[in-house]
Amino acid sequence: MAGAARSLEEWARREAGKCISCGFCEAACPTLALGPHRAYGPRGRVQLARHALESGSLGGEGLAGVYTCLLCAACVPRCPAGIDIPGLVRALRSLVASGRVEAPRWAPVRVRG
Ligand code: SF4
Ligand code: SF4
Repeated sequence: MAGAARSLEEWARREAGKCISCGFCEAACPTLALGPHRAYGPRGRVQLARHALESGSLGGEGLAGVYTCLLCAACVPRCPAGIDIPGLVRALRSLVASGRVEAPRWAPVRVRG
């Protein structure tokens, strides 16, 4: 089990490390326009994953970004780096659920006012 979590973590780190921050993915995302900041879109979620994997923790705002992803994959064909963004979000949820990434117990989801 620990080995599986470690390899998921390694895969996620590799995947997040491919991001060149171009932002091409953002226009395709249905949640970005609804949220209060970039963590509600694919680029922000990839950056969150990178940060969470480096630090081993995720704050409430970041957790909200992770749990508002619809896993719809609309962003995937837009990404020149070929990042499996919904797969990365799933991996992050799994790492939070298993305690390998520390996070608050609830996410303060907000809608842009
Ligand atoms: S998978 Fe998540 S990040 Fe990608 S377009 Fe859908 S809601 Fe946005
Ligand atoms: S399109 Fe891909 S490489 Fe560009 S910002 Fe989005 S996730 Fe990163």
